[in-house]
Amino acid sequence: RLYNEVQDLKGNIRVYCRIRPFLPGQSKKHSTIEYIGDNGELVVANPSKQGKENHRLFKFNKVFGPAATQEEVFLDTQPLIRSVLDGFNVCIFAYGQTGSGKTYTMSGPNSASKGDWGVNYRALSDLFQISQNRRSSMSYEVGVQMVEIYNEQVRDLLSSDASQKRLGIWSSSQPNGLAVPDASMHPVNSTGDVLELMHTGLTNRAVGATALNERSSRSHSVLTVHVRGADLETGAALRGNLHLVDLAGSERVDRSEVTGDRLKEAQHINKSLSALGDVIFALAQKSPHVPYRNSKLTQVLQSSLGGQAKTLMFVQLNPDVESFSETVSTLKFAERVS
Ligand code: ADP
Ligand code: MG
Repeated sequence: RLYNEVQDLKGNIRVYCRIRPFLPGQSKKHSTIEYIGDNGELVVANPSKQGKENHRLFKFNKVFGPAATQEEVFLDTQPLIRSVLDGFNVCIFAYGQTGSGKTYTMSGPNSASKGDWGVNYRALSDLFQISQNRRSSMSYEVGVQMVEIYNEQVRDLLSSDASQKRLGIWSSSQPNGLAVPDASMHPVNSTGDVLELMHTGLTNRAVGATALNERSSRSHSVLTVHVRGADLETGAALRGNLHLVDLAGSERVDRSEVTGDRLKEAQHINKSLSALGDVIFALAQKSPHVPYRNSKLTQVLQSSLGGQAKTLMFVQLNPDVESFSETVSTLKFAERVS
């Protein structure tokens, strides 16, 4: 079902909005979410302001309200992931300000139990399950890479020495389809393997971070799942890549208030997120020129953006009134590409 919808006029780009619940201690009185429609409509408003112009309507392929479970979200994501086993490239990413639930959607909360698993664990578990089901006709090999993009530098999160080495990006015309061939590739056969690798990746990502200076919100993490399949009867081979991306926080930084490293970080994030927006906008417009080369992020993701590839963006919102202006700016980013 989704497969056909994905082949629609939008050039294989889908946009889902997800609103996280209020956390314990936050008052629900200050919600900016006015209305969530079954048809993908969302109305936001600043509850401390009056007037009609305060209400803004946005339209998505789907809106998940605060009560939506990880399982519900995955049900609408699953068909895309399955198409990787048929040789498609797929990119799923979460966009939003820090604290809006990007990591929750992609990975789940810290020390998640199975029921809380986010898209990436569920995706891999599903890929293993289906390749098992097809084992009489197809044989599959699955490998994963995990890199971080920070200040326009790509770093391997899974290399044994947690090296700070900068990795180069190859053009998407590489026969194996891998954009970062020097990032370590780890064969995986079970969700246990994946959980272990993700743990390593998250530990390495935290290197250099302090409580005040939480780095994960200012770097992009990209989990690449590389699938190779062979038809046991005909010997025909296929490849599919799945990119699962937890983006850096999209919040605008007040340039008058930060200097030095923080200013540089903010500029790099801004540049890469707008480059991503420009690429998706160009694809949605079916523009003949797609500006992949403007950031490391879009170069790394190139094989899964455009062409036959399928892209899903989760637009993450924090419903609190304090976040209203960031919410509007997140929604405007999404509106441009949907
Ligand atoms: P981000 O990665 O965008 O900075 P997080 O995923 O860390 O945001 O979410 C911020 C906080 O909100 C975390 O404590 C997270 O567990 C919680 N949270 C986010 N989304 C949900 C959700 N759908 N249900 C319950 N808690 C959530
Ligand atoms: Mg996060």
